[in-house]
Amino acid sequence: MRPIQMVDTKTQYQKIKSEVDKAVLEVMESSAFINGKPVHDFAAALSSYLGVKHTIPCANGTDALQIAMMALGLQPGDEVITPSFTYIATTEVIALLRLTPVFVEVDAKTFCIDPAALEKAITPKTKAIVPVHLYGHAAPMEAIMAFAQKHNLYVIEDNAQAIGCDYTFSDGTKKKTGSIGHIGATSFYPSKNLGAFGDGGAIFTNDDELAAKMKMVANHGQSRQYYHDVVGCNSRLDSIQAAILNIKLQHLDEYAAARQKAADFYNQAFAGNPRITTPYRASYSSHVYHQYTVLLEGVNRNGLKEFLAERKIPAMIYYPVPGHKQKMFEQFNVASKEMPVTDWLTERVISFPIHTELDEEQLNYIGSAILEFVNQ
Ligand SMILES: *Cc1c(COP(=O)(O)O)cnc(C)c1O
Repeated sequence: MRPIQMVDTKTQYQKIKSEVDKAVLEVMESSAFINGKPVHDFAAALSSYLGVKHTIPCANGTDALQIAMMALGLQPGDEVITPSFTYIATTEVIALLRLTPVFVEVDAKTFCIDPAALEKAITPKTKAIVPVHLYGHAAPMEAIMAFAQKHNLYVIEDNAQAIGCDYTFSDGTKKKTGSIGHIGATSFYPSKNLGAFGDGGAIFTNDDELAAKMKMVANHGQSRQYYHDVVGCNSRLDSIQAAILNIKLQHLDEYAAARQKAADFYNQAFAGNPRITTPYRASYSSHVYHQYTVLLEGVNRNGLKEFLAERKIPAMIYYPVPGHKQKMFEQFNVASKEMPVTDWLTERVISFPIHTELDEEQLNYIGSAILEFVNQ
């Protein structure tokens, strides 16, 4: 049996090695390492895949969120509503720009923003909402967009964990996550569903003006060479990463299907077990299983982690400390805010290995080990 990892990028690479090696060599031969043809080809291919007008590649997913917020012209003290139950990058960027993160609760089933929580979080200073499509499941975008429209707020989707996920609106129309808000942001960190061989990120929008601003911000605020109109930053996706991503994008749906197959296996293995709540999928969302995260009830979570580690099975807690309890945010006086749902989830979640290369032997081995501990 192959060793079990949270993600197996090595085996995945072996399957596309000849294509990838050729594309990387081509970039090296051309020596157009920055802003080369693969960067433009990849941006066009991703726009077409997501059904958006503009894709602006950048250096990583954190930058993508930062550039989006910089381009919206938000001012220090403006409030941005975001879940506490997310990876730190989402909320850190808000604070970095001297905006005020306002944490809201998530839904206990979907792990994404609870639309009912928005009403309680809004103030005259609220300017934007950053929903996160956590673990590969969409946030309830229809309700979030309706709320944003009513209150004249921007919506920036953090799509770092859900690229390829489909959202179905109540009238039956479908859109990809990341293409629904005013701006979408994603990451190509190697372990993400569309992962590069290094860092990378991108921003999406259908708005021509916002696209032009974000391009400018990502390139030192430059409108034409050596003319800098706004304070920007330097954030680029390099040609080698773009060439690799261009190949991997062609496999993205197949990768999602492989993750879904692994998730189906776990779902069946754990079905009806009162101590394991398997991932929920709302009718409006597909699930691309960036993570396979369950809730444990009456199980010693650390004990399970150790039991699995002894059998060389990794498991992770995403994330052990929610935003409202991070020291980083104490200055925003949010530490005292009560977030019972987020705290309840934080104590119960555990993520098991899920990736495109898991075979039946590995899944059987993982599933039986989990059940052996849980049912003892
Ligand atoms: C990975 C991730 C990011 C940041 O992406 P980087 O490329 O690592 O900067 C942001 N938000 C979420 C939800 C993520 O999972």
